[in-house]
Amino acid sequence: MLNTSARTAMLYDRVRRVIPPIEWPAFADDIDAILDLKQQRNAVILAHNYQTPEIFHCVADIVGDSLALARKAMSVDADVIVLAGVHFMAETAKLLNPQKTVLIPDLGAGCSLADSITAEDIRLLRQRYPRVPVVTYVNTSAAVKAESDICCTSGNAKAVVESLGVPRVIMLPDEYLAQNIAAQTAVEIIAWKGHCEVHERFTPADIRQLREDHPGVTVLAHPECPPEVVAEADFSGSTAAMSDYVGQQKPSRVVLMTECSMSDNVAVEHAEVEFIRPCNLCPHMKRITLANIRTALEQNRHVVTIDPEIAGHARLAVERMLAV
Ligand code: SF4
Repeated sequence: MLNTSARTAMLYDRVRRVIPPIEWPAFADDIDAILDLKQQRNAVILAHNYQTPEIFHCVADIVGDSLALARKAMSVDADVIVLAGVHFMAETAKLLNPQKTVLIPDLGAGCSLADSITAEDIRLLRQRYPRVPVVTYVNTSAAVKAESDICCTSGNAKAVVESLGVPRVIMLPDEYLAQNIAAQTAVEIIAWKGHCEVHERFTPADIRQLREDHPGVTVLAHPECPPEVVAEADFSGSTAAMSDYVGQQKPSRVVLMTECSMSDNVAVEHAEVEFIRPCNLCPHMKRITLANIRTALEQNRHVVTIDPEIAGHARLAVERMLAV
């Protein structure tokens, strides 16, 4: 059995390029306690790509984008799942693991996209566009998913839209994702006015300035960015696709037009790549900390619950997506 300092020293080796030595002692104690608590409670931690490196690389068991977390959550062999991410992700984990206890360390970890639409909005859209299927981004509440025909993520949105075999779909709530997918498909897309508060702030002028300041930089943009930003980028894809791009293409300099922690997490694996970091923080993702993950496991909070009727309908929409 390793003592605390030996165990955490091994973990620090993984993240030393992105966490200064002076910051590490503030993390080590919580990390050590969380590793023990996971064993005691037969718990796993699912962490989104936007979590900070001390969570993503030091305590998480499963990491990835929304789609990967949703998929992997189905095969989790544990009594407890702690979702290091935002509330809709914890609800999705609960939908796919109804028998397990799912915890979210901070109930305030919301999402501007998820908050932009309600179940009632979808019922009104269906009245306005009868028989047009509703494709819902996973960044939505369980109640909104329950009103939808099928879910999608930024990684599979085009495939999901085209799988329906119809000329027109409603795709919500992210207007920019809908516009970016519309540019790639013949299917007509009716969009909603929701935006991600992190990605909507990037502009084409940001990219032009980056190219001037960092000659040769490769620009990768998330599809939640406005279409004119995606048009100026060298590549656009989900967080998983951006990570794969860096691993496969190995650009000498790269900038990821997305949430700040993503660059840190990818940089840990690619010492040879220079990461330029003009990123935007997601205040919701940043509500999750080592301290509240520890408390979640110690005090079994906050337990995610979903009304059974809503859960049944929402699960169907997620499972239809996973079958595409
Ligand atoms: S980054 Fe954007 S889409 Fe993701 S949780 Fe934050 S506000 Fe929501």
